[in-house]
Amino acid sequence: LAKEAGKNRYHLFDPEADRQVQEHRRFLDSIQQALENNELVLYYQPKVHLRSGQLVGVEALIRWQHPERGLLPPAQFLPAVDGSPLEQPVGVWVLRTALAQGASWAREGRATSISVNISADHLLHGSFFSQLQTLLAEHTDMPPALLELEVLETAALADMEQAITILLRCRELGVHFALDDFGTGYSSLTYLRQLPVDMLKIDQSFIRDILSDPDDRGIVEGIIRLAGACHRGVIAEGVETLEHGAALLQLGCELAQGYGVARPMPASELFDWLARWQQEQPWTRLPPWTDG
Ligand code: C2E
Ligand code: MG
Ligand code: MG
Ligand code: MG
Repeated sequence: LAKEAGKNRYHLFDPEADRQVQEHRRFLDSIQQALENNELVLYYQPKVHLRSGQLVGVEALIRWQHPERGLLPPAQFLPAVDGSPLEQPVGVWVLRTALAQGASWAREGRATSISVNISADHLLHGSFFSQLQTLLAEHTDMPPALLELEVLETAALADMEQAITILLRCRELGVHFALDDFGTGYSSLTYLRQLPVDMLKIDQSFIRDILSDPDDRGIVEGIIRLAGACHRGVIAEGVETLEHGAALLQLGCELAQGYGVARPMPASELFDWLARWQQEQPWTRLPPWTDG
């Protein structure tokens, strides 16, 4: 009897927990609907070469054009998607949409490198490689070398062996890899040496105070040196002002992405933005000591 009572304790109905489970389920249903109703969209944020102002690529960033709540940023729905049965369908949708966009730009003679964020579970899932292979085969106008996959440093570290195997296989298809939010995990140098990634993306938290905080400046300088020593490219994200860009150039980082260059925008606006950016050449207003 005591045993039964003990067991029953776990079956007590908790209305609050039940309400949360129901709410989560309804929210996931609505995201599934959004996927079916084409309410998910990709915005694209330019990555530029600071010295020349050249566009080096764009990062695809998901949004939800919600019929009632307006344009929702990923923070308002991706946490629910991650770890749910929707993680793969959403991840595949993002890849397919980005590849279709890339193929279309390539056909217009505007071939552009596109970076796509891949969630940890999606990357490490056994079917990722074959999904990628199929999607690339469906978009032959998009050169695989123009696809860069952004993987969180923490995702790569979650299962190093598996990550290395998958990255190596995918690389044979011609795609590139970047380690996103670099500096927020704790990759030892040994790990970094083993990981077949082409680029380190310095996390925006280190860039924000680079002008005022000598510690952040030192960390950024360290990452730039590290990238050089490991023969990896390096790009800074969260470059909010041209002064940030000037500081980065002085430290030896030539690639940047951030509101100071452009905010993420619909695909249809990208080349109008680029024409304006190259006409105005705001980067030429960077202090002259960046020329050296
Ligand atoms: P992330 O990959 O590190 O992307 C950069 C985020 O920083 C984007 O936020 C971008 O809009 C924002 N950002 C860019 N420049 C600046 C700046 O100068 N200042 C500040 N404060 N922020 C800037 P967003 O679009 O809200 O995305 C947030 C995160 O959601 C992304 O971080 C990425 O981890 C995830 N995410 C976005 N799209 C996807 C996707 O399609 N799939 C997956 N798995 N994750 C995605
Ligand atoms: Mg990213
Ligand atoms: Mg990032
Ligand atoms: Mg981030």
